[in-house]
Amino acid sequence: MQVTFFSTKSYDERYFTEECLECDHQLIFHEFKLNPDSAKLAAGSDAVCAFVNDQLDRATLEVLSGAGVRVVAMRCAGFNNVDLEAAADLNLQVVRVPAYSPYAVAEHTLGLLLALNRRLYRSYNRVREGNFSLQGLVGFDIHGLTVGIIGTGTIGVEVVRLFNGFGCKVLCFDVHENQRAIDLGADYVDMDTLLSQSDIVSLHCPLFQSTHHLIDSAAIAKMKHGVTLLNTSRGALIDTAAVIEGLKCGRIGNLGIDVYEEEDNLFFEDQSGEVMQDDVFARLLTFPNVMITGHQAFFTSNALIQIARTTLQNLTDIEKGGDCANQVKATK
Ligand code: NAD
Repeated sequence: MQVTFFSTKSYDERYFTEECLECDHQLIFHEFKLNPDSAKLAAGSDAVCAFVNDQLDRATLEVLSGAGVRVVAMRCAGFNNVDLEAAADLNLQVVRVPAYSPYAVAEHTLGLLLALNRRLYRSYNRVREGNFSLQGLVGFDIHGLTVGIIGTGTIGVEVVRLFNGFGCKVLCFDVHENQRAIDLGADYVDMDTLLSQSDIVSLHCPLFQSTHHLIDSAAIAKMKHGVTLLNTSRGALIDTAAVIEGLKCGRIGNLGIDVYEEEDNLFFEDQSGEVMQDDVFARLLTFPNVMITGHQAFFTSNALIQIARTTLQNLTDIEKGGDCANQVKATK
């Protein structure tokens, strides 16, 4: 198949090219995002390969379909940016990489927590400047705390396993219970119980209409004073304005995020020479108890190899006319 890639960086090109040495697909890489304007550049390709902040709404999908594209291959797990109903109407097959390295995301979640709790970003800078003061660096023992995991799928259950290692009590909320989490000793509870009893709340459910702003002012009001909130899933699970209010009054004691609801205008690009236009994000940057990374939780070599391998296999499966296990369809 000929495949046109959008939003690619040098690392995408490197890992896909290496994994495709023995495959029959022809890969064309573009650095710009996929949107209704750029979609026409996929003309002549059977498939497009897109990423988390590409725009795969009905308008873009119509242009792709008109250009002869039959397959949308997402090189990520989430597909909240794809209009699945429009894809079905246009006979476009959508495939994704449901799991590539749950460890990468789970470990980054713990990384955010450890850095936040002990203010490692502050001490790193202080020591480099010869400032060895400990003022403002006091943390807490994670051992013995209660942790609430919202969404216990592939990644969430790995987070349960890691918190087990710290000697935490783990509470879970999910629309489907995962036996692996139960086997790890976690308890499923309702959302209100999880929010009111957890010292740390970590989000690992997908972004759907039903989970949009799952953490809003009402949810924050139910949380323990000084709670640590972690989000490595999707930005819009959190109402950022409500979280800022929660930080200002101390209800939220620490915030660690790898995703942000307006991240498509910010992340994955070097904007260090630009004037920040997003006032909400700019406000988040002012808090000493907020740590933000730019959607890098997935970013390990293991994950990049697996993403390339699975995406290419998805395309091969479809080319051979068979069903692809990683196809996603609209649920009506
Ligand atoms: P998964 O599909 O294996 O698990 C998601 C879980 O969420 C499932 O158990 C599902 O039942 C549950 N869920 C669905 N609706 C829910 C609700 N309303 N409340 C509570 N739980 C609900 O997905 P995964 O592989 O574990 O990934 C989770 C999310 O992590 C993805 O959707 C993606 O958005 C995000 N992600 C982020 C990165 C990153 O780099 N930051 C990388 C990969 C995935």
